[in-house]
Amino acid sequence: PSSLQRLRDAIRDVPDFPQPGVLFKDITPVLADGKLLNLALDAMAEAVEGQRVDKVVGIDARGFIFGAPLAARLGCGFVPARKKGKLPWRTRGVDYALEYGSACLEMHEDAVQPNENVLLADDLLATGGTAGAALTLLQQTGANVLGSVFFIELAFLHGRGKLEPFGPVQAVVTF
Ligand code: 5GP
Repeated sequence: PSSLQRLRDAIRDVPDFPQPGVLFKDITPVLADGKLLNLALDAMAEAVEGQRVDKVVGIDARGFIFGAPLAARLGCGFVPARKKGKLPWRTRGVDYALEYGSACLEMHEDAVQPNENVLLADDLLATGGTAGAALTLLQQTGANVLGSVFFIELAFLHGRGKLEPFGPVQAVVTF
């Protein structure tokens, strides 16, 4: 099978996680296989090829797993966007709505400079609520937002529509 098919086959469906009715895409079998992890990162790097990236911003927590090694491959820096209260220094944050309640993502004030070329990375795009909040936060920094890259996109949830106003949306595996 092709690399893409091997990646797709390794993603495990977990019914009713984290709540009844949700079919969770479990990426840990990909992470646990060195060849597949490497293929996933190659594909994400290839998806953003040709762009001059200064910072990859990864979303807490699975976005760190793909974002930091992606940044290392691109030869640029990595910035964590974290859940409220996790970052030690001065932060700026954005509140966003969840299905039940709300959440807040924060970045260090000095993590991204105005006019830097920044790319958002996460493991999976579902409704786009999380990535949309992170892109809003990035835009507020005055950075030049290049777009976003995901390992997985759940296309049937149409999250892409929320993110495309910020820039191109790339995904390696689409369901
Ligand atoms: P959204 O905000 O787009 O609805 O949800 C995306 C966020 O929730 C991402 O940060 C992602 O890590 C997490 N997420 C939602 N559903 C899944 C899933 O099925 N599998 C994984 N690995 N993460 C998910």
